[in-house]
Amino acid sequence: MNTNSEDRREYQHIDCDVLVTGGGAAGLACAVTAARRGLKVVLLERYGYCGGGAVAGLSGTVCGLYLAGESQASGPQQIVFGFCEEFCQQLAGRGGLSDPLRYGKNWTRVHDPLKWRMLADDMLLQAGVNVIYHAVAIGVLTEGGEKVEGVIAWTKQGRLRINTGVTIDASGDADIVAMAGLPDVIGDRGNVQNPTMIFHLQGVDMPRFLARHGADTIMDNAVSALIADKNRSGEYRLPRSKIWLFPTTQPGELLCNCTRISGSDGRELNALYYRDFTEAEINGRRQAVEYARFFRDNLTGCEQAWLSDTAPQVGIRQTRQLEGRTRLSNADVVSGAKSPSAIARSAWPIELHAGDRPRVEWLLDDFYEIPYHCFVPRRGQGLLVAGRCLSAEHEAVASARVTAQCFAYGHAIGHAAAIAVNNKLSPAEVDPAEIRQFLRRDGAHLE
Ligand SMILES: Cc1cc2nc3c(=O)[nH]c(=O)nc-3n(C[C@H](O)[C@H](O)[C@H](O)COP(=O)(O)OP(=O)(O)OC[C@H]3O[C@@H](n4cnc5c(N)ncnc54)[C@H](O)[C@@H]3O)c2cc1C
Repeated sequence: MNTNSEDRREYQHIDCDVLVTGGGAAGLACAVTAARRGLKVVLLERYGYCGGGAVAGLSGTVCGLYLAGESQASGPQQIVFGFCEEFCQQLAGRGGLSDPLRYGKNWTRVHDPLKWRMLADDMLLQAGVNVIYHAVAIGVLTEGGEKVEGVIAWTKQGRLRINTGVTIDASGDADIVAMAGLPDVIGDRGNVQNPTMIFHLQGVDMPRFLARHGADTIMDNAVSALIADKNRSGEYRLPRSKIWLFPTTQPGELLCNCTRISGSDGRELNALYYRDFTEAEINGRRQAVEYARFFRDNLTGCEQAWLSDTAPQVGIRQTRQLEGRTRLSNADVVSGAKSPSAIARSAWPIELHAGDRPRVEWLLDDFYEIPYHCFVPRRGQGLLVAGRCLSAEHEAVASARVTAQCFAYGHAIGHAAAIAVNNKLSPAEVDPAEIRQFLRRDGAHLE
């Protein structure tokens, strides 16, 4: 039998200073920042638009901007600025970002996924980034072992070889790390947080919904108890009882974060495995239909509502993390640890999605800092990561992965890459103090 399935088309070839794989919040911030420093930057994205988990996964809100506190009387206190603030301001200016909404002891802002996609296109093009959509990184270029010098991407035109000074893995899944054979970690001994299929419910009578359910987007215990009852009676199949419903920037629309997807045989799913990823999509859509039926039948204001669409891709919270020179620990998060090498800060709770109720552990009136070396591989050269695949313990990721922080990581790693290229340094040699200087110049408020 002939097993040679080689693609015989010629490779296309590009050279650049910085290559970013992945156009999520982190990849966008990273590519724009490095390009604004005058570097030749390529951004590869497997979909036809940017946004990643926030847009393709419809995660829908920018969490992580504010401090949490028992008393929210004084309103939201913002702690993340810089690129994140610039993006939020521009999105709000286009009508694509809500004012802060209550999320338990913290706040969040709901975004419009179409306006996000269009703003990302505009920012990338204005910064001069060479954006390549519908391109999947499928291999790494290495010289003599563990020095990453770029990637091979698959496109409809054939394979594309991209040689670069610094490669940034902003794939969310640490794909480039894995392809390079560098050390990585998967969840808690292989167990990752469960996926969620987010969906939109339209036709909601919002004044009645808000009058009955209140301004907090975390639905109260009465709703959880009702879900549990209906589940027990067999009337519906609703595996998650603690749910979050966010009024969006569109009239009469709720963004529904409520499903909890497992395999048809009850097993926990890990989207790194193609069978699990596929099953998550199919079961996610089915579950969205079931929750929408429950809402219509049981929630005030939802009587005439309909499920208008599910996310284009099931929401994946966690897959593979880098094993970095530093690891953000669970203790760092809950104790509000600070670091002289910090390049970002967060006050988002540990929001662990496992079991039938997500566990939320608040960090009140304080924040923790995330050190640069959480983004630098323990071994190897030429590579940095940005975004949710940072080096962090299982519960710590359940806090550190949200959108405002991913913007902040990308912002910092874009500067780190620029410093490395301009000074002919390996990323590990970059001084975090210099990154902080650039971040401060950009208004990131890290002092
Ligand atoms: C269900 C769910 C709900 C959430 N809710 C919220 C919320 O309400 N608020 C909040 O702030 N955060 C929320 N999050 C978290 C947040 O959405 C993500 O953690 C964040 O968007 C991650 O950003 P990122 O840039 O690190 O990675 P991602 O957004 O995952 O982006 C990675 C990008 O890389 C691309 N890519 C991957 N592999 C390749 C490859 N090999 N080649 C080319 N491209 C590739 C992907 O297509 C994607 O665009 C939620 C997440 C989930 C799953």
